[in-house]
Amino acid sequence: MEFRDLKAQYKKYKTEIDTATETVMLNSDFISGKAVDHLEKRLADYVGVKHCISVANGTEAMTLVMMAWGIGQGDAVFIPDFTFFSTGEIVSFVGATPIFVDVDPKTFNLDPIKLEAAVQKVIEEGVLTPKVVIPVDLFGLPADYDAITKVTSRYDLRILEDGAQGFGGNIRGKRACSFGDAATTSFFPAKPLGCYGDGGAIFTDDTALKDLISSLKVHGKGSNKYDNIRIGVNSRLDTIQAAILNVKLDAFIQHELKDVNQVRARYDQLLSNHVEIPLIPNGYLSSFAQYTIKLKSAQERTKVMEALSTAKIPSLIYYTIPMHRQKAFSYLEPSDEGLEVTIDLCQRVLSLPMHPYLTEDDIELIASTIIAALS
Ligand SMILES: *Cc1c(COP(=O)(O)O)cnc(C)c1O
Repeated sequence: MEFRDLKAQYKKYKTEIDTATETVMLNSDFISGKAVDHLEKRLADYVGVKHCISVANGTEAMTLVMMAWGIGQGDAVFIPDFTFFSTGEIVSFVGATPIFVDVDPKTFNLDPIKLEAAVQKVIEEGVLTPKVVIPVDLFGLPADYDAITKVTSRYDLRILEDGAQGFGGNIRGKRACSFGDAATTSFFPAKPLGCYGDGGAIFTDDTALKDLISSLKVHGKGSNKYDNIRIGVNSRLDTIQAAILNVKLDAFIQHELKDVNQVRARYDQLLSNHVEIPLIPNGYLSSFAQYTIKLKSAQERTKVMEALSTAKIPSLIYYTIPMHRQKAFSYLEPSDEGLEVTIDLCQRVLSLPMHPYLTEDDIELIASTIIAALS
């Protein structure tokens, strides 16, 4: 069994994907080709924003937004403590200071009350200037943007939505990657919409921001890439990846998002009396990058993982280490204070195989293995 079955997906769409990539190769249209423009337009339409700028990966997508906003030394950027390393990494990378904020124990997403407390603390200390909040749509579920926006408007902060895992989700029909002043996503193969390598995108309604990032991502180009008007980077999405994504976006829209939510419903039915299942608030849709359950203790989790492994069922822990405890951030000397929920989640969460091609038989086997391990 696969944790995320990309082979099943490729088998189903082999003809379309092979044709799409072959066309790029026959035309030698490798960099900034037709498929890239087409994909950017389609993604912007789907998400419901004016602009989509494709880039090399989800991490660079976030870095580019930070660069464009001029975030750097002396600036405080608020991020959830429970997320993939990138969300904090890019803050330090541009020279700003990440402020780790605890998450909600049920949704796993940034806790808006603790966010406000963290902003006030930074203001009181008077050393850093609060500038940006980066909510993460963890495991596919959009963060609580209603509550977060109330806080950011009180303190005049920008929002960068880290939608690397969130593409396809929505809140009352408003789609992920359309929240905040800018949003980013990743097309890493295992994400809800993945390519066959690295890829990412930035979404925004802000045309000036789009223009600036379009320059920054191609060596700070002016009228062309040999006219360089600022220091930038090289961060483009390969045409081959865009061609693959055009096929995969069709599949995602036609059935994958629906199918993955059906898998979720079946898991919920089978597991809800035995473990804590993921909470999706009313009006929210998750794209289920992960289906993450909570066990009672670290010991119980180990027992379940061992039983799954014996039955040849893969399972993974997202995440084992709270961001503030990552060695890379030790220079900030962060304390555990106020980050109790994340510390606890890292002990008890477990992500199960999750993808649109998971069969009923596999779901039943996974559930019965977990239930047997618990009894
Ligand atoms: C995957 C991921 C990223 C980074 O995306 P890459 O394309 O791998 O650089 C950023 N944030 C979160 C929450 C992620 O899961």
